[in-house]
Amino acid sequence: MTHTSALDRLLRYVAIDTRSDESSRSTPSTPGQLTLLKLLVDELHGIGIANAALDEHGYVMATIPASEGLAGAPVVGFIAHVDTSPEMPGGGVKPLVHRGYDGRDLVLPDAPDAVLRLADHPALAGQVGHDIVTASGTTLLGADDKAGVAAIMAAAEHLMRHPDAPRGPVRIAFTPDEEIGRGADHFDVERFGAVCAYTLDGGGVGELEYESFSADAMTVTFHGFNTHPGYAKDRMVNAIKLAAEFITRIPQDGMSPETTDGYEGFVHPYIVNASVERTSVKLLIRDFSTTVLKQREALVERLAHEVVAAEPRAKVECAVDVSYRNMREVLDGRPEVVERAREAMRRAGITPVEKPIRGGTDGSRLSFMGLPTPNLFAGEHNFHSRLEWVSAQDMDQAVRVIVELCGVWAEAR
Ligand SMILES: [Zn+2]
Repeated sequence: MTHTSALDRLLRYVAIDTRSDESSRSTPSTPGQLTLLKLLVDELHGIGIANAALDEHGYVMATIPASEGLAGAPVVGFIAHVDTSPEMPGGGVKPLVHRGYDGRDLVLPDAPDAVLRLADHPALAGQVGHDIVTASGTTLLGADDKAGVAAIMAAAEHLMRHPDAPRGPVRIAFTPDEEIGRGADHFDVERFGAVCAYTLDGGGVGELEYESFSADAMTVTFHGFNTHPGYAKDRMVNAIKLAAEFITRIPQDGMSPETTDGYEGFVHPYIVNASVERTSVKLLIRDFSTTVLKQREALVERLAHEVVAAEPRAKVECAVDVSYRNMREVLDGRPEVVERAREAMRRAGITPVEKPIRGGTDGSRLSFMGLPTPNLFAGEHNFHSRLEWVSAQDMDQAVRVIVELCGVWAEAR
């Protein structure tokens, strides 16, 4: 029996336009996602997974049966998202396989400026001899996260063809609309029924992520007073100027995206809706510590009130919307989830590369919904870019890690 490689699967999946759309109210947000989700159900049936099914919200779930005598082992899950970023063209993707990479420039034929150079992309240094997949220069590739989908599918096929490979029951989910932050919205954790899961949505070989930002969004609204500007003396209160003063007071050093990295958080004004009468500033608040996140929010509120304190006719309101929390707050209580991923990588001859995610994943929300979910590498690089790439050999390593991880969990009884 021949297996379908992760590479062949990736090439098939990226041909389907699955760009998600924030302005859509349907689930999934775009019909192309359903096309891929249905294809995945067919392929899962084709490799013998009879219970693979698509639910009414666009989630595919399926079970790889346990090997002989291991039906009582813990149920673990693997998750990948089918949508691609709405920020970039995702239709008409023409994937190119650059066989046997030798360090030369990878020229993408459809755009003269689209060139992958080793000097600009140091992650290519470890790829000599590999087969690198890119798009043709005008679209993204969609390896984020179709490389993850392909790796899970290839691992599923491997396990179905090797019924003796040790594993407990293994659950698979393919989800819609991750890129617009809705991937966990309709995820039925109870029905999934796993003790933990792993998203396959990471970068280079070995990447293991179990810390994300804690994140909130704030809206600070200044209320002024508008009049005809020719007769405004001692009457007009310009909310735009209040907002400008407020933004100026936000410390730049060590508190903005432009000046922080690693474990530093930030306060990031990103949208202003301005008029003299009323100006609102939207801000992203981020930190790895939820306590510090709350301190940053208190600071934002204090700065806003300081500005208004100097102008008694003005008013300000501050509102906070919770976005997601650092998955580590959950995973610290379940250390075996990360430790077993480390062990699976070691068995595959891979050194884990552990670093914090300066953002959130569906796993951040799923962890707080009762499904601890760190993120594993799928070989993805240059996310959301026309220069997106993935190597076939790295995807195969991800397949190997999934298979090993099933074995590690099967021993944990
Ligand atoms: Zn992704």
